[in-house]
Amino acid sequence: MNVQDIKKIAVIGGGTMGNGIVHVCAMSGYDVLLVETKQEFLDRAMKTITNNLDRMVKKEKISEQDKNDTLAKIKTTTKMEDVKDAQIVIEAIFENLDVKLEIFKKLDTICPADTILASNTSSISITRLGGVTKRPDKVVGMHFMNPVPMMKLVEMIKGLGTSEETFTLVQELARKLGKEPVPSNDYPGFIANRILMPMINEAVYTLFEGVGTPESIDTVMKLGMAHPMGPLTLADFIGLDVCLAILDVMYKELGDPKYRPCPLLKKMVEAGYLGRKSGRGFYDYSN
Ligand code: NAD
Repeated sequence: MNVQDIKKIAVIGGGTMGNGIVHVCAMSGYDVLLVETKQEFLDRAMKTITNNLDRMVKKEKISEQDKNDTLAKIKTTTKMEDVKDAQIVIEAIFENLDVKLEIFKKLDTICPADTILASNTSSISITRLGGVTKRPDKVVGMHFMNPVPMMKLVEMIKGLGTSEETFTLVQELARKLGKEPVPSNDYPGFIANRILMPMINEAVYTLFEGVGTPESIDTVMKLGMAHPMGPLTLADFIGLDVCLAILDVMYKELGDPKYRPCPLLKKMVEAGYLGRKSGRGFYDYSN
């Protein structure tokens, strides 16, 4: 298969990342099929995509016609079987190994042998996902960044079994989506989170040990290191549960104490202080 053969992209999961991936694929002219477990989740995803397109129209980044053309490219379903005529399936369900393994097994039986199966996972082994299919050569990681329509990077993850052909093709696809693909091998955290999560964790330790306040820690990194956002603000944006889950995987899989999640991070997740999405994290978002 060549990149020109890709006409239809299926996306499994229409949450934070899935709806962004659908948005970008449809805006690049692909037919897109979004799969969710319930109609209400499909409706919620379509509402988010429509709102995001409206914002782009308002900012004069796209025309009303572009918006309508994009929306016309998107179909939705609650039946996984409907993905069978897509040339590539991008999985973006929540970060749970067992559920993802089940989905990959199922996709392997539904899709023709040449369909590429990609995952947007932040931390799960692509090699492991490929291992439950009969096509590990066609299983690959496409790690989009949040918010997908804004962020240029797609970290491309090559599992041990991923073929050069598949890996080249998905990088070409990422460029067609207006993104910059960067290759990474398949080790816990890949490149992005391998570097980002220890930094966030260290910022939490810096707070935990009383070296600085959230404001002082973030200001040092913004003004001193030219980061656009301080690490604690960024952690709140990503979700503290998500940060903890990624650190847990890195700690367990790499076995190095430098990845040990800070007790304060664990405590905040236990308390339900998950960052922006719960209204409270290192900062207060209640209003
Ligand atoms: P989310 O919880 O916002 O969305 C997950 C969606 O998947 C939900 O809408 C859920 O209904 C749906 N879903 C669950 N099981 C399904 C099934 N069997 N079939 C169809 N849909 C199903 O999660 P998210 O933040 O969008 O994360 C998705 C993936 O992207 C994860 O692997 C995560 O690690 C990765 N990721 C997240 C971010 C981020 O900043 N949130 C960044 C990069 C990568």
